[in-house]
Amino acid sequence: MHENALTKRSSTDFADSAGDRECGGCTACCTVLAVHELNKPARWACEHAGQGGCRVYSQRPAGCRDFNCLWLRGGLLSDVENRPDRLGVIFDQFRNRTTGVERFVALELWAGAFEEPRAGELLREIATDRQVELSYRDGTWRTIGAAVTVPQSAPGGDSHETRGKRTIGGDRPESDRI
Ligand code: SF4
Ligand code: SF4
Repeated sequence: MHENALTKRSSTDFADSAGDRECGGCTACCTVLAVHELNKPARWACEHAGQGGCRVYSQRPAGCRDFNCLWLRGGLLSDVENRPDRLGVIFDQFRNRTTGVERFVALELWAGAFEEPRAGELLREIATDRQVELSYRDGTWRTIGAAVTVPQSAPGGDSHETRGKRTIGGDRPESDRI
């Protein structure tokens, strides 16, 4: 069930404009996510990742080219502290190719990252109106969110909202943005 959420793949379903954002020195997804072309499992550091980023950037496989996390796509405020390597969490939103179901996942980089103040605040905000699947550093999963904690708000079954593009954290002052 969770395998696809832990694999580098196309992010085009929810590809907000990435603007001028760049991965920079972040290689978080290069450890957390599997890369089929490299036979690299999830939560295993890619041998091509260096401190300054990917060392084979121009020759990186298609899965790496196609994957953009939610921060890179513009779905979170551009504050560099929200970049996954700083935040400790990779956020991703995608649609299951077979079922068409939208999924929103949060992938923990180090143990305890979900409980840290900035990441915790973002998670609480995001989970107010959707389900969020949490992938913990130890390999366990947990689902949080409105549809889980308030099931009575889902008459007739599936209450999953498809809001599409949205910038999370938009109530923070402009001066906080970079
Ligand atoms: S986690 Fe996001 S910002 Fe970091 S390397 Fe991957 S796509 Fe780039
Ligand atoms: S090949 Fe480059 S972009 Fe792909 S996982 Fe490895 S370090 Fe990351």
